[in-house]
Amino acid sequence: MNACIFCRIVSGEVPSSKVFEDDHVVAFMDIAAVTEGHFLVIPRKHVETLYGLDSILAGHLMAVTTRLAKAAKQALQCDGMNLYQANEDAGGQEVPHLHLHVIPRYKGDSFGIKYNPTKPPREKLEESAARIRGAL
Ligand code: 5GP
Ligand code: ZN
Repeated sequence: MNACIFCRIVSGEVPSSKVFEDDHVVAFMDIAAVTEGHFLVIPRKHVETLYGLDSILAGHLMAVTTRLAKAAKQALQCDGMNLYQANEDAGGQEVPHLHLHVIPRYKGDSFGIKYNPTKPPREKLEESAARIRGAL
């Protein structure tokens, strides 16, 4: 038995309310929706985090997510929408099978991601940018 709950959803072993599926991705409603219409888009194959995603699958995942987000906006008449994607424990990932959350937003809803903005000096921003550029 596959231990990954999302692989089991992909195979149909665990029931889900599907929004879309093709040869490479599956989208289904989140069982603990944070707003009305909250759904997840995942690759069919077990990829744990964003770091394991190749650019072709990444492009397709994003293209499908965009199409589904537009459909959700039209169908649900939501006031806004968030995409959210978590990696590793420190990133808040609970299910270790890559997924993109599509979260329709409604004025006054209770969903929120808390940010604690800092104000790094320009030198620090430049240093961080250079480090990331250096890894490309
Ligand atoms: P994460 O915190 O990893 O970004 O989000 C995992 C998401 O998967 C949560 O929003 C959670 O409600 C959802 N989830 C976990 N188990 C199941 C399940 O068995 N079925 C469905 N449809 N969603 C699930
Ligand atoms: Zn999996």
